[in-house]
Amino acid sequence: MKTKILVNLASIIIAGYASIAVSAPEWNHSEQATWWAIEDTTKTLPQNFPFAECGVGTHQSPIDLAAATFDNTKPLNNLAVTYSADTPTFFNTGHAIQVNTSSSFTGGLKVGDETLPLIQLHFHEPSEHVIGDKKFPAELHFVHITGDGRIAVLGVAIDVGTENTLFQTILDNMPAEEGGKNSTSGIQFNPAQLLPAVDLENLKYYTFAGSLTTPPCSEGVQWYLLSEIITISQAQLDKMKTFYTNNARAAQSLNERSILTNQ
Ligand SMILES: [Zn+2]
Repeated sequence: MKTKILVNLASIIIAGYASIAVSAPEWNHSEQATWWAIEDTTKTLPQNFPFAECGVGTHQSPIDLAAATFDNTKPLNNLAVTYSADTPTFFNTGHAIQVNTSSSFTGGLKVGDETLPLIQLHFHEPSEHVIGDKKFPAELHFVHITGDGRIAVLGVAIDVGTENTLFQTILDNMPAEEGGKNSTSGIQFNPAQLLPAVDLENLKYYTFAGSLTTPPCSEGVQWYLLSEIITISQAQLDKMKTFYTNNARAAQSLNERSILTNQ
């Protein structure tokens, strides 16, 4: 039970959901350069700057992959996904469109021998990770959180191309209002169908230490970016932008971080 509470709490924090507004101030992507300075006037030092890590952190996300050095010489964990069908909640967080897995969902990201449970997935427009001047039209983040609060995010770049059936399901079931939740769709939804057509038992990836890309920008997040991308149609991208546009954080300083890869 305690584990589940922790996971739910972490899920709420990740979501930036309105229920934490009582303990953290509002924020938006247009003022991301000064997230660190947003003050919680109900608190005193040092708690009155709850998003300080956005400014003083040295392992912040996202990053510019073109600026990084890559190392494919180190032995890395096998990476696999064990997602299965679920009846999720479609959640308009106020910052992104998101899908929360149900309490009975058991799938996750298997890193070596450990499986980190999938809590939610959400979308950014345009992509947060960039390659020099190149951005993708959008980016998908699968967020995994262990009972003791460790976080791993699997990121997938999204290009415009063939229509994506499961993404259409998300668009069609997403509440229009900020903070809205749709948990009664009854739709069977397998998050694995959002992944590229690759070997899900042995993913090719880039990994590095990073953070949440939204306040409070907490570090200690392990990132895994897939080398393969997925597509949505232009009409789907346009529809996504009617929910949120420019909900992407700019690339952050690498600060000597290198990227490990099994490519
Ligand atoms: Zn994200």
